[in-house]
Amino acid sequence: MLNDRVQGDVVRGRLAPSPTGALHLGNARSFLLAWLSVRSRGGTLVLRVEDLDHPKVKAWAMDQALDDLRWLGLDWDEGPDVGGSHGPYLQGKRMVRYRQALDRLIEKDAVYPCICSRKDVENAQSAPHADDEGLKYPGFCRESGLSYEEAAGRLEAPRVPAWRFRTHAGEVTEYKDGFHGIQRVCVQEQDGDFVVARHREGAGYMLAVVVDDAAMQVNEVLRGDDLLPATHRQILLYRALGLTPPAFTHVPLVVGENGWRLAKRHGDTRLSMLREKGVDPRKVLGLLAWWCGWVPYGTEISAQELVPRYDLSAVPKEPVVLTQDVKIYLGIA
Ligand code: GLU
Repeated sequence: MLNDRVQGDVVRGRLAPSPTGALHLGNARSFLLAWLSVRSRGGTLVLRVEDLDHPKVKAWAMDQALDDLRWLGLDWDEGPDVGGSHGPYLQGKRMVRYRQALDRLIEKDAVYPCICSRKDVENAQSAPHADDEGLKYPGFCRESGLSYEEAAGRLEAPRVPAWRFRTHAGEVTEYKDGFHGIQRVCVQEQDGDFVVARHREGAGYMLAVVVDDAAMQVNEVLRGDDLLPATHRQILLYRALGLTPPAFTHVPLVVGENGWRLAKRHGDTRLSMLREKGVDPRKVLGLLAWWCGWVPYGTEISAQELVPRYDLSAVPKEPVVLTQDVKIYLGIA
């Protein structure tokens, strides 16, 4: 079983924003936890921009995300703005690596072409946050066994076949999540065969994130727990590519009072808006830290001051609810 192999190694964690929209308080909490986990152990942080999701990628969103993170007091040792020896740090500039990985999977017959026009093919460019998880794929194209050329011949331009990963009955992935403990899933039962690339030239999220975390020698991934189910698909890709997976830790999300993942309908919780309104980042960090169970309500504190207080075991197991009181406190009600 995979376990927390970071122990004893130098920790290399990452912040991986997708420039598809503004960062909100929920994103801030996950990024703060990822940053603290690394900084509290003297590790190295990589910032990687996950900009594969055209046309959802917004030209302004990358700079804004970096400015938001800096405003919170988070920093990184490698990234598009500071360089580093594992770049480029924009996924859009790493396509050749995804293509090579896809070629390896094709050679091993670990993937097959698929012409089904399901929504999960479209969704494959971005991380499958819970509400965009598709239905289990019934496997039509797997059974038809078409070559890529035959599959392409059945589609009208500009559509081209996607590549789907071949899962196996009874194949189980198991790992020890740093927050949720042992996770055990049969991907074939949970998701069926899943899309790794939408077209011949490039990868989708699932393959790109594996290729990049491995190439950037990331050995700790800490992110929101809506990506917990996707982790098993990523582990299958690590296996198929002969790569070593990082230690995974998935933390609960911030949700609205209706229990749904934080979104526009819960009001404007964008960090850029708080920044423009002149809200003190120490107040925001105090709130994030209170949500983690580390400080009393109303504390104002910096990211640096939180480093010695980082304690994952104090973080509540349930999602954090953004209440009306908190919005009033921040002046965003
Ligand atoms: N870039 C992804 C997102 O913002 C995160 C993916 C990951 O952490 O694996 O949704």
